[in-house]
Amino acid sequence: MSDAPVRLGVMGGTFDPIHHGHLVAASEVAARFALDEVVFVPTGQPSFKQHQHVTAPEHRYLMTVVATASNPRFTVSRVDVDRGGLTYTIDTLRDLKAQRPAAELFFITGADAIEQIVRWKDAEQLFELAHFVAVTRPGHQLSLEGLPTDRVTMLEVPALAISSTGVRERAASGLPVWYLVPDGVVQYINKYGLYEGPHA
Ligand code: ATP
Ligand code: MG
Repeated sequence: MSDAPVRLGVMGGTFDPIHHGHLVAASEVAARFALDEVVFVPTGQPSFKQHQHVTAPEHRYLMTVVATASNPRFTVSRVDVDRGGLTYTIDTLRDLKAQRPAAELFFITGADAIEQIVRWKDAEQLFELAHFVAVTRPGHQLSLEGLPTDRVTMLEVPALAISSTGVRERAASGLPVWYLVPDGVVQYINKYGLYEGPHA
């Protein structure tokens, strides 16, 4: 725990698995917003994926650690994994702010997720806790309607048509996932046989 007045990016996600789209988005936002650090926060059970099978939090956490280990500005937080239960972004931001009160938070989120924000728990308070950076990617049109324009910024990131769903489907049907996810993540998926079998 440290309390330096840093500019802290927060990249929340299911990361089932983490892929190069997530890493490029975090890297791009870090550069454009002069962030000192980006903390990746794997969810417990995400609230909007309640009826879906999601890989065990510990596997998703470890893949995130493997994927970010080589970048000195990337870290991983266990706040959501350790809290357990459903993950709400408001709790993530409150916990991080409690750990690092002097940090200025920049929540990094994709276009698909920002559109759900207005429906998120305690939506108004989210914008008091963090500035939101909405990254656009192929296939997702971004509408900022209903969102506070001073607290949300849109940013285009180099187009990477990668999704975790796509990676899981490829792995399940025996197609390669090399270069879509970091090498260590490919090896982790193979080692534990993730995305094989009935839930894949
Ligand atoms: P799934 O297909 O299972 O929904 P996902 O690829 O969307 O997975 P998530 O863990 O749900 O990955 O996403 C975490 C965050 O990263 C979200 O804010 C999402 O919008 C964003 N994101 C996901 N893929 C990309 C990408 N290729 N480029 C930029 N941002 C992305
Ligand atoms: Mg998603």
